[in-house]
Amino acid sequence: MSTKRDYYEVLGVQKNTSQDEIKAQYRKLALKFHPDRNKSPDAGEHFKEISEAYAILSDTEKRKLYDTHGHAGVDGRYSSEDIFRGARVNFEDIFGGFGGSGFDSIFESLFGRGGFGGGGFGRERGADLVYDTTITLEDVLKGKREEIDIRKDIDCENCKGSGCTPGTSMRTCTVCNGHGQVRSSRSTGFSTFVTVHPCNTCRGQGKIIERPCSKCKGTGKQKGTKHLSFDIPPGVDTGEYTIRGEGESVPNGVNGDLIVRIRVKPHEKFKRDGTDIFYDQNISMIDATLGKTIMVPTLEDIEKISVEAGSQPNTIIKLKGKGLPHQNSRGRGDQYIRLVVNIPTKIDKQQKKILEELRDTFD
Ligand SMILES: [Zn+2]
Ligand SMILES: [Zn+2]
Repeated sequence: MSTKRDYYEVLGVQKNTSQDEIKAQYRKLALKFHPDRNKSPDAGEHFKEISEAYAILSDTEKRKLYDTHGHAGVDGRYSSEDIFRGARVNFEDIFGGFGGSGFDSIFESLFGRGGFGGGGFGRERGADLVYDTTITLEDVLKGKREEIDIRKDIDCENCKGSGCTPGTSMRTCTVCNGHGQVRSSRSTGFSTFVTVHPCNTCRGQGKIIERPCSKCKGTGKQKGTKHLSFDIPPGVDTGEYTIRGEGESVPNGVNGDLIVRIRVKPHEKFKRDGTDIFYDQNISMIDATLGKTIMVPTLEDIEKISVEAGSQPNTIIKLKGKGLPHQNSRGRGDQYIRLVVNIPTKIDKQQKKILEELRDTFD
């Protein structure tokens, strides 16, 4: 017997809830139970449950099936792989983007790499590629669009990626009828067990190349460069970031990832600590004593600040919100200005005379 909960109940919405509300509610729950954020042992299972509910209810056709026939109407027709694949666009809309929290990474973590649905046969995976880039603190403030050319396998020019000698084509595998998978089922009493294997004849491709392209030997690939652009979001730090699926590809398999190694270049004026930045401002002992309005550089501008009369060395002045953006929330860190009071090392005769007279006025 299935103990699956009602999808509407899982998401905590009413049966007549609009698509927008379902999306908003799923987004809320997904943030709460996302395995990267929620470390409780049930979070993964729970995340899977709400995601499955969302996958069905965000798809008009599947939602209708579910409304009419309940779980049986959906489960009999789709594997959980189909369900999540079909709803990919809806998920991308919520998780899409940069930083390893994309659709693939979440579902890989739930279902295992390449093996959605837990079917047990992992698909082949292309190699990861690495790209190194150095950015400035100003880039961290605003984010940066990267335009890069990476060396990777691209479609063979001769066969346009098909792997077949030009003018010929692939034929459908007759063993699996082009599905790439062979199903076998076994009935025991009330239940039917269905097992799915990749087809041996076509190695899971569903198609067979009869006359391989001479240039690429039927792989459909050659070395080349691919132009890629992506956004480095504001607030990043030195570290590795993953762009899912932009690594090498393998036929009928899962693409590898592009690992972007970001180094944030030390700044000549500012030091960084998380989202806060630190700046040393030199002032003369006279200015520290008498007070002065000074101009201090920030990452984006120049700020006017007033140094109070009688400021001591190493006094810290805080410029709120002038630091770097937080990566996962709104707002920015602060800028801290440390006053470095300069004691003159060389003074001329006249200055010396004034200071000596001045000394006599202090106790
Ligand atoms: Zn086959
Ligand atoms: Zn070729």
